[in-house]
Formats: sequence, structure tokens, C-alpha cells
Amino acid sequence: MVQRKQTADQSTVRRHNTVIVLDVVRRFSPLSRAEIAARTGLNRSTVSSIVQSLLNRRFLIETDYQEDRIGRPGLSLTLNPQGGFAVGLEINVDSISAVLVDLTAHIVDRVEIEAQPNWSQADTLREASQLVDTMLHQGQHISEHSLGIGIGLPGIVDTNSGVLVFAPNLGWRDVNIQEYFKEKFHIPVYVENEANCGAYGEYRFGAARETNSFLFLSGGVGLGGGVMIDGALYRGSQGYAGEFGHMVIDRGGALCNCGRRGCWETAVGPRAVLDNVQKRIQSGAVSALSEMVNNNLAALKFSHACSMNTSYR
Ligand SMILES: [Zn+2]
Repeated sequence: MVQRKQTADQSTVRRHNTVIVLDVVRRFSPLSRAEIAARTGLNRSTVSSIVQSLLNRRFLIETDYQEDRIGRPGLSLTLNPQGGFAVGLEINVDSISAVLVDLTAHIVDRVEIEAQPNWSQADTLREASQLVDTMLHQGQHISEHSLGIGIGLPGIVDTNSGVLVFAPNLGWRDVNIQEYFKEKFHIPVYVENEANCGAYGEYRFGAARETNSFLFLSGGVGLGGGVMIDGALYRGSQGYAGEFGHMVIDRGGALCNCGRRGCWETAVGPRAVLDNVQKRIQSGAVSALSEMVNNNLAALKFSHACSMNTSYR
């Protein structure tokens, strides 16, 4: 029993160290083994052994000899773009999109379709899984290793069980999204609130790379939010932490899709902004937006309003 316990602990430590090495290479490559040891604080022999197994699995590639930043000659290591691929999926109220990324998170392909208002939940899931299927096939051109599917959803998500607990604007409750896609594709599936995905993306690759703690707001059909504290997503005990859109700011305000009145989303969400713009134009305000949609105000989209915000009077 003692022997078994030790083995389990050792493999956990090894996994943990492997993640640390991969993360350092992802962020700072090209790096020599000596630089990886210096940046991770792991000893040289541990680094060499982990690097060797990552090279064997083709997650890393070794480039030519060059002097590292400390001045010592060594082979430098980078992530191998062809070491694997993953698919990202976003199910939203008015659209479904999927991306194919290589191991360096470079987007190789993307596809987006408009969601039809008459689609049932089953229709939406079927369309979404078709997009995933297409991307997984495309991925075979990158590598034989499909690493998983990451799914962003517009609502409260239990990331442990993979259940979409409640998505007011979709009108969905208690749907096990993780199970659905796992059964179809038999690879790891990760589900997360879409604004948390956005926050994480900005933290890793975008506007928030230089900071560890920030708030992220996303305006799709609803208004979502993500909270990053010290480099970790803050979800709160039930996953409600980033739901700024459903903070009640006016108890007598407009009815929200969540069932309450006066949520912030009903005042500043994209739908509210569009409603206000349409009302103002109908009551005589002059705006270049009318021309943009040939005076068909019903065709007005939030993106129009965003692009023209300075010309609206
Ligand atoms: Zn609400």
C-alpha cells in the first residue's frame, strides 16, 4: 500500500512539473534546458528527463545549437505546433462558432454559423457538434493527437460536472454539455462560461497579458463578465461571481430573461443599447446608422452601433 501511495504521489509531482515546464516553454521559448531549469526552479536532471519525454511525445522540438541568454551553448527548445491540436467551440444565442488551434494556440481554421430562432436545444447541439466534427477532421492535417474540445457557454457553468446550470438568454437549464460532446467524440471536453473563456484568452494572449488581476466584460446578446484574481479565474462557490449582467440595479426596471427586473444587462446590454438607438431614431434623432441599414431599423445590429458610436447624436 505504501509503495502504491508513493508511486501515485510521484506521478502527480511529475505531471505538475511537466505542466510547469510546458508553460515556461510556451511563454518564453526558445529556451535551453539550463534556462528552463533557471525559470522553473527545477533541478537540471528533472528538467532533462521531462524535456526528453516531451520530445518523445513531439510536444517540443529542438532547434539548432545557439548560445542561451546566460551565454552557454545549448540546444533550444520550442513548442511543436504540430504536437497536437484542439477545438474551441462557442455556443451563443445568435451564433455558433468553432476554431481549430495547433499546440501553440495559433488559430488554423474557424467557422461560424448563424443560429436560427426556431432551433430546439437538440437542433443547436447537433449543429454545434457538426462544426466540431468538421474541425476535428481538419485537425488531422496538423497532428494525430487531438487534445480536446473547449466549450464556451453563455450562462452559469459547473466546470466540475460539465453542466450548463442556467443560460437565461438560451432558455436552457441543467444540460450536461460535457457528457454530450464526450459521448460523441471520446476526447477530453472542458466547459466554461464564455466570458471566463474571454478573460482567460485576454490573460494568455491579449490585452491583459501584463496583469494578473482584472475584470473582463463581454457583450453578446447578454452581458457577461469574468474575474481574474492573481492569475486564476474567480468563479465564486456556485459559479455566479462573474455574472455582473444580472446584478439588479433598478428594482422597477425592465424584465430580464433571468426572470428578475432591472438587471444591469437590461440597461446596458447590447439588446438594451439597440432598443435605445432604435427608439431614439424613431422619435426623430438623426443618425448615420439609418443610412447604414437603408432605413430598415430592424436590421440594425449591435456591431453597427459600436462602429458608429461617435456619429450618433
Ligand atoms: Zn437578469
